Amino acid sequence: MRVLLVEDDEYLLSALLLALKHKGYAVDSVQNGVDAQAALMTVPYDLVLLDLGLPGMDGTKVLADLRSKGQNMPVIIMTARDGVDDRIHGLDIGANDYLVKPFDIRELEARMRAALRKSHWSNKLDIEMGELVLNTNSGRILLKDKQLDLTPKETVILKMLMAKGGQVVSKRQLMEQLSDWVEESSENAVEILVHRLRKKLEPTGVLISTVRGFGYKLEQSA
Ligand code: CA
Repeated sequence: MRVLLVEDDEYLLSALLLALKHKGYAVDSVQNGVDAQAALMTVPYDLVLLDLGLPGMDGTKVLADLRSKGQNMPVIIMTARDGVDDRIHGLDIGANDYLVKPFDIRELEARMRAALRKSHWSNKLDIEMGELVLNTNSGRILLKDKQLDLTPKETVILKMLMAKGGQVVSKRQLMEQLSDWVEESSENAVEILVHRLRKKLEPTGVLISTVRGFGYKLEQSA
């Protein structure tokens, strides 16, 4: 999960950087609109946290440019309390959500999770992996047109792995997804769920392989 943080207030920038890195996000930061545009052209970010009042080029300009290039990753704008007009304009031109400064880091994180969840499912209707099909509208996972018999937590894990289409998903990312379902998710809980999922996936020809020290990915068995 790679995040671009655009904020010119040094104090807020370093506080957010510290908090988000601590939570396991890979975060790049820039302090003006021109640098933000340059970063967005070179790195495929999963999410952008964008201050609107920036020196040189305004955050709304950065956002408008991004959307005009067809880039549809979630963008959360951060504005001052009196910036109602900016906020409305920001949402009009394609921001997914906004936060009013000062905000609690826990609220920021909750908004980030929600924005990322939505973006996973909005890009494509069906995600296929071998004979498994994830219908992103209904959220159902089908095997040869029959719904797989999975628990809600197993479904969360498999959806996340399918949405990544064979790319590695870290245990931490899986724990974050699960945290909406359980009080406390642990690496151990993820391991147990993956173990159960592997058994259920045996007849499907789709495997969950372990990437040592990091996480998991889906593969099709030969
Ligand atoms: Ca600012």
